[in-house]
Amino acid sequence: MRKHNFNAGPSVLPEFTLEQTAKAVLDFNGSGMSILEISHRSKDFEAVLAETKALFKELLNIPDGYSILFLGGGASLQFCMVPFNLLNKKAAYLNTGVWASKAMKEAKLFGEVVEVASSKADNYTYIPKNFTVPEDVDYFHVTTNNTIYGTELKTDLSVNVPLVADASSDILSRPMDVSKYGLIYGGAQKNLGPAGVTFVIVKNDILGKVTRPIPTMLDYKTHIENDSLFNTPPAFGIFAILQTLKWIKSIGGINAIYKMNLEKAALLYEEIDRNPLFRCPVSVAEDRSIMNVCFVMNEQYKELENEFLELTKTKGIVGIKGHRSVGGFRASTYNALPKASVEVLVAAMQEFAKQKA
Ligand SMILES: *Cc1c(COP(=O)(O)O)cnc(C)c1O
Repeated sequence: MRKHNFNAGPSVLPEFTLEQTAKAVLDFNGSGMSILEISHRSKDFEAVLAETKALFKELLNIPDGYSILFLGGGASLQFCMVPFNLLNKKAAYLNTGVWASKAMKEAKLFGEVVEVASSKADNYTYIPKNFTVPEDVDYFHVTTNNTIYGTELKTDLSVNVPLVADASSDILSRPMDVSKYGLIYGGAQKNLGPAGVTFVIVKNDILGKVTRPIPTMLDYKTHIENDSLFNTPPAFGIFAILQTLKWIKSIGGINAIYKMNLEKAALLYEEIDRNPLFRCPVSVAEDRSIMNVCFVMNEQYKELENEFLELTKTKGIVGIKGHRSVGGFRASTYNALPKASVEVLVAAMQEFAKQKA
């Protein structure tokens, strides 16, 4: 039986994705070869790449004038590729967590970094609002979902400079107005596929404005001009992403998945708010993430954390231990997590409250 997998990343994938990739590992398209064995320059793989991009574009409604790339190096390499390609003098960052801070650290190697606002002093328990983005920056960087703290920037901001988003943990979980962004990136391992592939959606006309030389592999233009085939791309990961995209389409596209995600998150937050043992550390309700639901034990029950974890293990629940910087619990409710898994967790919370509260 499959576990109720609440891991933050790598994380649960649709069974459809697992079945299709398992088949293709043994025999890809009746070719007598595995997806792991074929050339990335073969017709069959080119078709996979083309279909993955087309479906990404369709599902997320990506306008013309944008390129979709599949690269290696994780979201963490994008922390440096973004400023390498876009930062001439100055960039603005919204500091909403550890990932945002890591992105800022890399940008400082390339120029001035303006932190427009930060929730660090409150352990990142909310998304800062009412900040001003200077007009003279080369871009403004946000993290749309803060995987560790369970906060989410749910609106597509309107700014007068290219908006850059790390959407590692909420890509394709909700409708997004891509036209408001200059660049969106993320690791695939939270919501799309296995680790090892990074997606980049970039508006072509924001590139080519920096004067510094850019190493070939770190230049977005290299990958645009070569259609993600400058070197050997993470072919297996791209194939798996394609299966996930097909699955999203089959269940009704982004709006359908968004509705399901809202329902799952609401179920869990309602229980956290109702249950006397737990509380949600996110201090502003509207900032609560629909992808990573963080909760901690109320002060007087703190010593029961391990006992609760033990109980959840007996129910087949895995991956709910919170990040060490927040403590408590974190249930990641990514696209592929079935609602039934959330119901099992809610039932365990209720059972525990009956015993202890
Ligand atoms: C997981 C995560 C990262 C790091 O991704 P890697 O692919 O491991 O480099 C960056 N940003 C966010 C928001 C994440 O959730």
